[in-house]
Amino acid sequence: YNVEDTSIVILGAGPAGGAVALGLKKLGYTNITIVGEPRQFCAMEGVSERVVDGLRGAGFSHALEKLPPASARFVTWNGVTSQANTERLIDRAAFDAAILMDLAMQGIHVIQGRAGEVISTSTGHNISVESSGQSIQLDADFLVEARGRAAPAAKLKRLRGAETVSILQYWEGEPGERQSAVQSFEDGWAWMAADEKGRRYLQLTFDVASSILPEKSRLAEFCIEKLNTLEQAQPYLANATSTGEIHARTSTPILCQEAVGDNWIRVGDAAMAVDPLSGNGIFQALSSSLQAPAVINTLLREPEKALLAQRFHQLRITELFFRFARIGRDFYAMEEQWQEQPFWEIRAQWPDKQPMHQSSDITQLRVKTLPVVNQGLIEAVDVVTSPDQPLGVWHLNGVPLAPIILAYQSSPDELAVIQEQCLAMQLNEQQQRQVLQWLVGQGAS
Ligand code: FAD
Repeated sequence: YNVEDTSIVILGAGPAGGAVALGLKKLGYTNITIVGEPRQFCAMEGVSERVVDGLRGAGFSHALEKLPPASARFVTWNGVTSQANTERLIDRAAFDAAILMDLAMQGIHVIQGRAGEVISTSTGHNISVESSGQSIQLDADFLVEARGRAAPAAKLKRLRGAETVSILQYWEGEPGERQSAVQSFEDGWAWMAADEKGRRYLQLTFDVASSILPEKSRLAEFCIEKLNTLEQAQPYLANATSTGEIHARTSTPILCQEAVGDNWIRVGDAAMAVDPLSGNGIFQALSSSLQAPAVINTLLREPEKALLAQRFHQLRITELFFRFARIGRDFYAMEEQWQEQPFWEIRAQWPDKQPMHQSSDITQLRVKTLPVVNQGLIEAVDVVTSPDQPLGVWHLNGVPLAPIILAYQSSPDELAVIQEQCLAMQLNEQQQRQVLQWLVGQGAS
């Protein structure tokens, strides 16, 4: 029995499931099956340049081709309008189809179908799948749960932010420029996007408990009334008509506090889903999925290190979740016109009061033994932690930092000690310069 032949089934073929499949393939796994059902609705989403790097790093090529160039993003927040930045607007149906194409081209076994009941034991999983009107039973040694927000999690411990819903309306109008806009209002915020074919996606986000939300039959009319009051929405409504279709998506931030076991793992939105205000959902989905193959590889090859690998995955996901939650909190807090409104009051304080970045000085740096990814496996190594980097930094351009900081701490006033350590580590001149610059950046004099 070769570890590479372990049967691995991935449920959900979005960016997270797709990235895990490609990552496992690169590690030599040959028996990977991914089960994916296309999304049931059209959506346009905005992504940053970091997603381009993430997709490239994961090994996608068709999905990369579906990313259009960056377009203008207008923002009206706290009563101030700016064209602060840009984003790439992707058509999710085309993007997700390109992910499937990448997977099939790279030899991953793709089943287009819907996963139903999953029966799991400590030795494996049995999954019922409906595909083209047929029922299939799949057996897996290892299961990757990547069904996004739809992934069942009733039995798992989860942390939830304020319950939030985003209502999406589709409009069609004259072809024009691809662009997007954000605007805050008393009870929520709007995100609007248009592509060059004249399709418009108008998304309004509210608190689920908001008393202004009408019953379902009046929802479309209610959204149009709200959009009519928003300055940024006007270019999207001009010479356009609503298709009448409406789609509500839950957008509550959710962290799964049990995201990995001995023979299963959750990735992407199934592990942690962020507030869409951050515009970083796809980025975080890729982040958790790029680390997952090393966690799975360790669980399968070195089960004695299972706790270490599980701790690594859970810590990274938790850290990422709180980072995005705090970015969102600070953005909500910048809106000061309706601070007393429940929508804004709750979100400007959640998840905590901890600043986005913790300032630290060199005396707070510590050397700790923590898990990292090393050559496709999770390993415990000495890293340098700070209040802002609790998970630690292992390398600086290939140079391990722990021995450097230990040398510094032994004699903080003597440059010669650092130089000796650099020589002992056989660092070249450029690396020595980088190490010294890093130390100065941390506050060394
Ligand atoms: P998904 O992309 O959701 O993929 C899961 C896949 O599993 C889907 O294809 C689904 O159809 C499939 N699936 C579900 N159930 C089954 C089943 N039973 N069997 C088989 N397949 C199944 N992110 C951004 O980066 N930019 C944005 O502008 C943005 N806007 C957003 C707006 C809203 C309102 C919301 C809610 C989210 C937004 N996001 C945005 C977040 C983004 O959509 C997700 O974070 C990202 O898609 C997560 O990737 P994933 O692979 O984990 O899950």
